[in-house]
Amino acid sequence: MANDRVFNFSAGPSMLPLEVLQRAGAEITNYNGSGMSVMEMSHRSKVFMKIFDDTQEKFRKLLNVPEGYKVLFLQGGGTMQFSMVPLNLMGATGKADYAVTGHFAKLAKKEADKYGTTTDATPMDAFTAIPAQDKLKLSADASYFYYCSNNTIEGTQWQYVPETGSVPVACDMSSDILSRPIDVSKFGLIYAGAQKNLAPAGLTIVIIREDLAGKELPITPAIMNYKHMIDKDSMYNTPPCWCIYMLGLMCDWLESQGGAAGIEKLNIKKANMLYEALEGTKLFQLSAQKEARSFMNVTFRTGSDELDDKFVKASVEQGFTNLKGHRSVGGMRASIYNAMPMEGVEALCDFVRKFDKEN
Ligand SMILES: *Cc1c(COP(=O)(O)O)cnc(C)c1O
Repeated sequence: MANDRVFNFSAGPSMLPLEVLQRAGAEITNYNGSGMSVMEMSHRSKVFMKIFDDTQEKFRKLLNVPEGYKVLFLQGGGTMQFSMVPLNLMGATGKADYAVTGHFAKLAKKEADKYGTTTDATPMDAFTAIPAQDKLKLSADASYFYYCSNNTIEGTQWQYVPETGSVPVACDMSSDILSRPIDVSKFGLIYAGAQKNLAPAGLTIVIIREDLAGKELPITPAIMNYKHMIDKDSMYNTPPCWCIYMLGLMCDWLESQGGAAGIEKLNIKKANMLYEALEGTKLFQLSAQKEARSFMNVTFRTGSDELDDKFVKASVEQGFTNLKGHRSVGGMRASIYNAMPMEGVEALCDFVRKFDKEN
């Protein structure tokens, strides 16, 4: 790690591997002999089309995306998908099930209510748990079942893919995409804003089972129409070229870490190390229930707002940034995505133990 870099625990945009940044830096004024930056290229140029195609291929390989699924590179963030999912999928029956296990799923459901009737498949009082399969309230006539695999703010994560029979599953994987292997064939649609685990802000990845596209509501804008974007190969308008290039570099880096399975091992090791350090203190409480704990966002608190503040302030002096919890829940949150190195988590664990002794 270059010694002028901090350990950045931001929930997103979040840190990228130093090697990826250095490679982007080396290529920034002249990409591969083209005499220009990727930022300056026509998205229809040969040079960029190769970047685009190679990135598609690398991403599909890493996530093992099967035939029959399209990968789209869009803009609009995770938030635009809150609208795109219902606009494109709600038409089947006019109804959808939403597993509201956190802030972002709640926002998604609210958007979907504009286009159909939604049911909360996981009514709960506090967002500290993930309901088991047999607790899900499933409707046989839902157009789709929606959930968010990792609740970024609350620090909870689904450790299984819900079984919903013939109802397609749509999933927001913004904060855990490519942090572990998944069986894409269990999903109808997966989407992720790239700025947490994969690339800079501005790119949204959508993986969609092809037969689900083309049934959009008539009011669906062309730019929000999955079928239209599939037909135009994500290039109906200018795609986020630079971010797609950065995703390609990140895919190379992930490959060097052993792919999805390799990075999962590292992610589990980092998270377990931090959870164990926190559990070993008298001062800190973990916010999520044990079975629901996220391997990406570790949420904790002291129980005293004053001490939480003190912890956050002291952590900045130690060279850690962004450990303050989301304003809606308070406490602390350490986001330890793919790019957070083991040394960052080790340093945080040492700091947690030291702070516990001294307070
Ligand atoms: C950050 C986040 C979003 C919102 O993403 P934007 O790209 O900012 O629109 C949605 N869902 C999840 C799970 C997130 O973590």
